[in-house]
Amino acid sequence: MIRFENVTKHYRGTSRPALHEVDFEVLRGEFVFLVGASGSGKSSCLRLILREDVPSEGRVVVLGRDVRTLSNRKVPYFRRHIGAVFQDFRLLPSKTVFQNVAFTLQVIGSSRAFIQQAVPEVLALVGLAGKEKRFPHELSGGEQQRVAIARALANRPQVLLADEPTGNLDPATSVDIMQLLARINANGTTVVMATHEAGFVDQMKRRVIELKNGEMVRDERHGGYGDTSAIPSLAPEPERGAAAVAALTAVLELQREAAAMAGTSLPTESEAPPWAGEIRETAPEPQTVRVGAPAEDDGRAEVAGPRGLTRPPTQPVPVQDIPDVEVAELGVADRLGLGGRDRDDEVGPTS
Ligand code: ADP
Ligand code: MG
Repeated sequence: MIRFENVTKHYRGTSRPALHEVDFEVLRGEFVFLVGASGSGKSSCLRLILREDVPSEGRVVVLGRDVRTLSNRKVPYFRRHIGAVFQDFRLLPSKTVFQNVAFTLQVIGSSRAFIQQAVPEVLALVGLAGKEKRFPHELSGGEQQRVAIARALANRPQVLLADEPTGNLDPATSVDIMQLLARINANGTTVVMATHEAGFVDQMKRRVIELKNGEMVRDERHGGYGDTSAIPSLAPEPERGAAAVAALTAVLELQREAAAMAGTSLPTESEAPPWAGEIRETAPEPQTVRVGAPAEDDGRAEVAGPRGLTRPPTQPVPVQDIPDVEVAELGVADRLGLGGRDRDDEVGPTS
């Protein structure tokens, strides 16, 4: 789904490369943490995946496309399949929550009918139902990031990139966002999240790719997916913060839930939109997870367990108005129930 082949990235006017012979592949359905200190090259990696930049040497192949051979004209169509969220949310301040999410769909020419259906659905997915009319300044930081996530998911991308998405949030709110990203991933979307909080993600038993001064120094799979025996029993270190422990516990719960429900298999190419058919209609009872030493309990260690993300039963979306059918072979068209393709906008195969 995403492949870095010996990627080196030099920025003009710098002597040392920002990335040096970075080589990895992210498979469909994976949740990958990209970790490393500030300046290690995480954002550079994400920018290459988004084709905001091209490698100096090596190849970056995303959704079957070599980003270097993608013409500028085709980039917007390519990007429709990749959602992205950032530390600073990047919402439009003069637009409401609904408008912020709808705007992306309007730009790509989605029909009014599709927007009217898709926006409330995706806002419900991220837990913002009822806040459609709020403006960004009327929301908490965590809620603003949820809007950004909703916006990134509105077009049902196959990949969600998150660059330090919790960087501006307090620990408790970061927990919520981590839970949300884990749930989105559990429902089939590939997630790549950059963070400098390496110590924290180490405990999550997800794949971790670590960069140091632009070099890949670690790629650990932690036993891989579907193997529930690899999911560890929680052994919090005493010094770990209550919120971090709660986040860890919540994510592990989600993993267990997802593994149990999905029969431990990864989503396949032929499956419906990442979260369309997969959102569990039967939500588990909210549960309370309490971990960590009671002495240091500041109240934030108690977080609700997996909340049921339900999606209103709806008809398949009317997608004939969406012209993004150029990557039919990626399975996107099928996912959206699209048949035709627009030759002018076609993104050609890379090999
Ligand atoms: P991270 O996201 O891990 O903090 P970045 O990918 O932003 O790291 O940066 C990696 C290195 O590349 C840093 O040394 C940074 O200064 C440099 N860098 C990033 N973007 C540019 C740019 N546009 N021009 C020059 N140098 C850059
Ligand atoms: Mg960065």
